[in-house]
Amino acid sequence: MPGKRKYTNATFTKRVDHEAGRHHTLRAMSEPAVCKDCGAVYAKRRWTAANSVLENKRQKHLRPPQMTVCPACQQKRTGEPRGFVYLDGAFFYAHHEEVEQLLRNESERAAEDNPLARIMEWKRGDGHKLTVNTTTEHLAQRLGHALEKAFGGSAHYDFSHENKLARVNWQRG
Ligand SMILES: [Zn+2]
Repeated sequence: MPGKRKYTNATFTKRVDHEAGRHHTLRAMSEPAVCKDCGAVYAKRRWTAANSVLENKRQKHLRPPQMTVCPACQQKRTGEPRGFVYLDGAFFYAHHEEVEQLLRNESERAAEDNPLARIMEWKRGDGHKLTVNTTTEHLAQRLGHALEKAFGGSAHYDFSHENKLARVNWQRG
């Protein structure tokens, strides 16, 4: 009888693998989830910043979120940045408040595009007037471009593709 073919071992094995894969995915990240450090929301397989009112409204009808730690906050905890922006020069010394405000504004704009792109740490001294550590290579690069655009000066970009690190040196005399 042709109908018996449905119950061969091959069919059975294939189906088990498929189910296991699905359960694994569900366990990895259940939705919706909220980061207990920064309030970012994970739903529909993407992270959204906590201040996205529209997105939060959209999630209202769903079941209560699971508390978790988003990848950006996880990275802050382990302290492993992917980007570094070094600021030097006399201009920074005289205008550091304006420059720092620009960096904050630009990182907030970047977080609208990618909520996992964050400034991790601001370090003063330590060989440079200011070092800003970022969670992503792209954010360091973006901050460098923003500095050049707003204040001129010169920026040098170094990438280590092997370690996935970006280093940006900006200065204005
Ligand atoms: Zn977070």
